Amino acid sequence: MALLGFIGVGRMGGPMASRLLDAGHQLCIYDLSAEATRPFAARGATIAGSPAEVASQAEIVLVSLPTPDIVRTVALGGNDGVINGTKVRLMVDLSTTGPGVATEVASRLMPRIGWVDAPVSGGVTGARAGTLAVMVSCPKKTFDEVEPVLKTFGKIFFTGEKPGLAQSAKLANNLLAATALVATSEAMAMGVKAGLDPKVLLDIINASSGRNSATQDKFPRAILPRTFDFGFATGLSYKDVRLCVEEAEAMGVPMVVGSAVREMLAITRARFGADSDFTHIAKLLEEWAGIEFRG
Ligand code: NAD
Repeated sequence: MALLGFIGVGRMGGPMASRLLDAGHQLCIYDLSAEATRPFAARGATIAGSPAEVASQAEIVLVSLPTPDIVRTVALGGNDGVINGTKVRLMVDLSTTGPGVATEVASRLMPRIGWVDAPVSGGVTGARAGTLAVMVSCPKKTFDEVEPVLKTFGKIFFTGEKPGLAQSAKLANNLLAATALVATSEAMAMGVKAGLDPKVLLDIINASSGRNSATQDKFPRAILPRTFDFGFATGLSYKDVRLCVEEAEAMGVPMVVGSAVREMLAITRARFGADSDFTHIAKLLEEWAGIEFRG
């Protein structure tokens, strides 16, 4: 099987790269963190010294990176960017970076290097299990080439050829996921303050019309057990909702609820730090209401 390049082997990229190795691919990997690359070196992957070095070894380079600025730098930056690689033909962005940077970077890489948007949803658990939703936009001919690789990660949804289109789908989803977490934290805080047992209230909601991804997954798995370790950073969730609201604003779509959710994430980030798990939104409500969500 072909050697693939993979840049950014963090919470999401790590398990995704691991699945590619399991499927029989050889990998050339780059990450700023030596701790992140160590397990891959142990499994026989080549560890490169820069994005350009990865792109001089692999025709297809996948990236899973935190922010739009980092994706831009890794793609185009200085002499070390993917654009300086001698072998690369396709760059696949698995990160959530919004349609703006996708459009810009795609046009700068063309015509020598093709661009594929492939943001994913399903969290660290889905990345490990290969059950992610993979949203793709790129030319159809390119899609046929990358589809077998992307299938390793989960279920594929081809959204169209326009650069950034799949990123718009991803932002819409993440706005809803964050909204569910904020609204559920508020509703739960009200109920617990009134005297309800959090576990009982959660069971009621999950058997009723208010159930959502926070009541079914985040609260039972990371908030009631008080581990606050769902696997997604507050800073990244804030970035997603900010990108979504900005994108909507640029198109003349008002987002009243979206703006409020963005501010809740900004407050959570200020209170607990960008690296805190985004389930700390619930901790904010605990502090404000003077209660605890204890299962
Ligand atoms: P992460 O911070 O765990 O991983 C990012 C990795 O990129 C780290 O290993 C970091 O060292 C590396 N990195 C940072 N800057 C770099 C650079 N300049 N060059 C090379 N490597 C660099 O983040 P994550 O949670 O894995 O998220 C990655 C992307 O996937 C983000 O865009 C995020 O929004 C998106 N995403 C995350 C989740 C989730 O549940 N964690 C789910 C879906 C999508």
